[in-house]
This record gives sequence, structure tokens and C-alpha cells, in this order.
Amino acid sequence: MIKDLLNKTKTSLSFEVSPPKTEEEFQAIFGKLDVLAALKPDFISCTYGAGGSNTGKTIEIASYIQQHLHIDTIAHMTCVGFKQSDLQKNCELLEKEGIHYIMALRGDRPQAMKDEQFNSREFLYASDMIRYLKANTSFTLAGACYPEKHYEAESFESDLMHLKEKVEAGASFLTTQLFFDNDTFYRFRERAADIGITVPICAGIMPIISANQISKSINLSGSSVPKELENMIDKYGKNKEDMRVAGIDYAVRQILDLKEHGVDGIHIYTMNWPKTTAEIVAQI
Ligand code: FAD
Repeated sequence: MIKDLLNKTKTSLSFEVSPPKTEEEFQAIFGKLDVLAALKPDFISCTYGAGGSNTGKTIEIASYIQQHLHIDTIAHMTCVGFKQSDLQKNCELLEKEGIHYIMALRGDRPQAMKDEQFNSREFLYASDMIRYLKANTSFTLAGACYPEKHYEAESFESDLMHLKEKVEAGASFLTTQLFFDNDTFYRFRERAADIGITVPICAGIMPIISANQISKSINLSGSSVPKELENMIDKYGKNKEDMRVAGIDYAVRQILDLKEHGVDGIHIYTMNWPKTTAEIVAQI
């Protein structure tokens, strides 16, 4: 349960899923969620497509997790493509579904969105949305953080100071961007603690099970790739099954090391792949 994470009573295990794009894939997500639920995570979060296209799907999936699977659910919401009135409407829907947690994000600009629309959003930063939700709703709020700094931030320090504002605005816990080198996480955690960020921080782990996936993930996240992972892709990248096994092994070793270093929570970016997630969970 999220309460365990908030009270730091154990290392939480959580998953992230995303609303699929096609109707066929959307119908298949519920079976995948059933498999993920059997792994007994403390919570599952569901992303939101910045730009406003799939709000309904985020809420429908979040509702299934909460109402049908009885697992704590976090619905993501973004500042991009979202008016205050949309947010209020969504909050009412989430409350009706018994969902108590929101991860508030700024979101990235969708390719088709013009500068003007992106720059005129009502909530500029995630902390603005968090401040609003804290003042006007009873949701428990989460935010994102970046062990290797956010790609737009001027410096690691300025990003950390903005993260502190996010926590002061009302974020009760944080989840990191994916990373492949645990040392970057340990340095980030230490620096965050130094400036008084003491809320629980879940480490975001994405298993890399294909060579194609790595360039996509890096483009999106800006995460650096350690030599060990590069070598692994060179060695196994051409063989699908070998690469899958090696990628799972890499994620498992990352997680076991994080647990040894007292991480507050492990958050697996499942990519909607229950089988891979199940194999990781079996080994940790
Ligand atoms: P913010 O915290 O608003 O920060 C954005 C940038 O602005 C940073 O560089 C920060 O340093 C800077 N900044 C913050 N406050 C200020 C200020 N007051 N003045 C000046 N600069 C400031 N995207 C989606 O579209 N949907 C999702 O569901 C989603 N889920 C995610 C989940 C996690 C765990 C993570 C790590 C990311 C997720 N993203 C998602 C991606 C995220 O939206 C992008 O990384 C986005 O670019 C930043 O979002 P943020 O909430 O961290 O932004």
C-alpha cells in the first residue's frame, strides 16, 4: 500500500502502465493488469498522454485497478493540454472511483502542439498543479524527479531547488525518471537530502529487453547508458531471447543493489509487459 511507502515501513514495489493507443490494445490491457495484480504490487500508476487525447482511458484504467483489483492507484495528470476546469472534472471522476492519489506532471509538448498553446498552459510547472490540488482537493500527491537532472534544467542544482519547491507545494513522494546507473541515483538522493528533501523517493527502473528500445528510452528520458549496458546490447542485441534474458538480469541486479542501499520504493516501468515484469519480480 502507498501508506507503507509514505511511512517508510518497507521498500514498496510498484508498477507503471500506460493507456494503449489502439482500441484492440486497450481492450487487452485489462488482462495484463490482472497478471500484474497477481504480483501483489503496493500500487500501480497509470500515465496520462500530455495533450489531452486519452484522459478517459487513464481514468478507466485507474478505475479498473482500484475498483476491480483493489490495488492503490495513482492517476497521472499533466499541465500540458489541461485547463483548471479539466482538472477539476477529472478530480471529481477520480473521487467517484475511490482513487486517492494523483501524480502531477508538467508533461512534454506533443509534436503537433504549437509553441503558443504550450506556453499558454494554465499550470506552468508541476509544482503549480500540486499547489492547486493541495489547496482544493484531498488527494495525496506525487511528483517526478530526475537523478541526472531534467533535460531542460540549467543545472543539476537549479533542478533540485525546483524539486524542493515541488515538495513544499505538497508532493508527498517522488518517483524518478528511469536510470541505468545506480550511482547516479545514490548521488541524487544524497544531494536531495542535503537540501532537506526527505519525502520517500521511488527508483524508476525500466528493463531494456531489445536493442531498439534503448535509443527510444534515451531520447525520451535523457538517461545516460553505462558501458556495461552498452556492451550487453552489443553482445546480445541481435538475438531477441538472449537480449530479453540479459535485460531482465540487468534490471534485477539494479533492483537488488538499490534494495541493499535502502531505497524507499522500486517502481517498474512495465511498458505494459506483464511477462517481463513477472520474471523480474520472481527474481527480486
Ligand atoms: P516540472 O517539475 O514542472 O519541471 C520541468 C522543468 O522546469 C525542469 O527543468 C525544472 O527544473 C523546471 N522548473 C520547475 N519549476 C520551475 C520554476 N518555478 N521556474 C523555472 N523552472 C522550473 N509525461 C506525460 O506526458 N504523462 C505522464 O503520465 C508522465 N509520467 C511521468 C512519470 C514519471 C515518474 C516521470 C519521471 C516522468 C513522467 N512524464 C510523463 C514525463 C514528464 O512529463 C516530463 O519529463 C516533463 O518534461 C517534466 O515533467 P515534470 O513534472 O518533472 O516537470
